[in-house]
Amino acid sequence: MNILVSGAGVAGPALAYWLRRHGFTPTVVERAEQVREGGYAVDFRGEALDVLDRMGLLEEIRALDTEMGDAALMGADGQQYATLPAVIFAGDLEVLKGDVTRLLYEATRDDVEYVFGDSIATLEQDDTGVHVTFERGEPRTFELAVGADGLHSRTRALAFGPEEQFVRHLGIYTAIFSLDNYLGLRNTGHLYSVPGRAANIFSARNNTEARAALHFASEPLEYDWRDVEEHRRIVAERFADEGWQVPRLLREAAKASDFHFDANAQVKMDRWSTGRVVLLGDAGYCAAPTSGRGTSQALIGAYVLAGELAAAGGEHTAAFEAYEREMRGYVTEHQQAGREGAERFFMGTPTQEMLDMIAANAPEVSRTQVARLKTYRPAA
Ligand SMILES: Cc1cc2nc3c(=O)[nH]c(=O)nc-3n(C[C@H](O)[C@H](O)[C@H](O)COP(=O)(O)OP(=O)(O)OC[C@H]3O[C@@H](n4cnc5c(N)ncnc54)[C@H](O)[C@@H]3O)c2cc1C
Repeated sequence: MNILVSGAGVAGPALAYWLRRHGFTPTVVERAEQVREGGYAVDFRGEALDVLDRMGLLEEIRALDTEMGDAALMGADGQQYATLPAVIFAGDLEVLKGDVTRLLYEATRDDVEYVFGDSIATLEQDDTGVHVTFERGEPRTFELAVGADGLHSRTRALAFGPEEQFVRHLGIYTAIFSLDNYLGLRNTGHLYSVPGRAANIFSARNNTEARAALHFASEPLEYDWRDVEEHRRIVAERFADEGWQVPRLLREAAKASDFHFDANAQVKMDRWSTGRVVLLGDAGYCAAPTSGRGTSQALIGAYVLAGELAAAGGEHTAAFEAYEREMRGYVTEHQQAGREGAERFFMGTPTQEMLDMIAANAPEVSRTQVARLKTYRPAA
């Protein structure tokens, strides 16, 4: 059974892995010219570690751990006023996103067809399959198509309707970028926050680099999401009068080659499939970065979707229904965490006591109550 997977972020390669293991034939098409390296840190929580273990990748992922320690909350005077325990922001295991993507790609590249530098252009389905045209490649027909192409999913737009119907803004915009570790941070970060704005710097790659983030509260803004120079201008205007390290961060942001700007948003849909097309990960149910669960959700979704397809012998209607049944409660819980995270985001200057209390509850909170991984039997 030939299955098209759009997107080689986290969900796409993870799905390709499980599809192969169950005897399906996936083709992954990725818009970028190659696997996206580096990027920001993402964390894994709860059952996602079980999925990695079942993929035989847990030890390799652990070897990529950022080993981030507690971080410092800084005041405008440049003095630290509290310590943020790592367990609050780094989950059970924290890794640079590009490292996760690369690892998943390398685990699948030998027996999965990857097409880089291309994208679905049009998509039509009938009883025989999904007929796809590409921006560059020749038209092809697949039995099923999976949109694992992230928050701004092209697959979702083509098969379900325009983004505005499904993407819910959470009132926060975020810019992230790489820079020199000019503060000499060692496995730690500095965070700064005033009402409606926050900034942070964390060391990365064994302290040889750093990653910065600038966040601001805002109603939905009108801008071209592909125009990076416009994004830099928006951020520079919002932080124009800010103190602490912000003037330096704005200079770094102006020249960063990996500057990334987007809304913290969620994807809310009544159904994740229509006919032979199904959505996975952020494309179907983004929980927002404020949930800290998007990567885990993408991995678990991939495991469940491929497993249900195998269990249904490739009968997609039954498989997609079972996938939704398995994942719905889990996604609801994560999206709730995303909304609560957004509400708390600009919480001013928390006391050390409050932070320690959150940290004490963190391990329990990170293992969700809903998802219990089933075991799907791999094809012989
Ligand atoms: C700033 C930030 C911080 C985050 N922090 C965390 C965290 O701490 N913990 C956590 O769990 N999650 C975090 N996340 C969320 C996490 O990155 C996502 O939830 C996760 O990557 C979702 O994986 P995905 O594969 O569904 O989508 P993505 O990783 O977004 O992958 C989508 C892929 O599809 C490709 N693509 C897009 N359009 C097309 C197209 N038309 N054709 C072909 N390919 C296409 C993209 O290039 C990309 O490679 C964070 C996200 C951001 C932005």
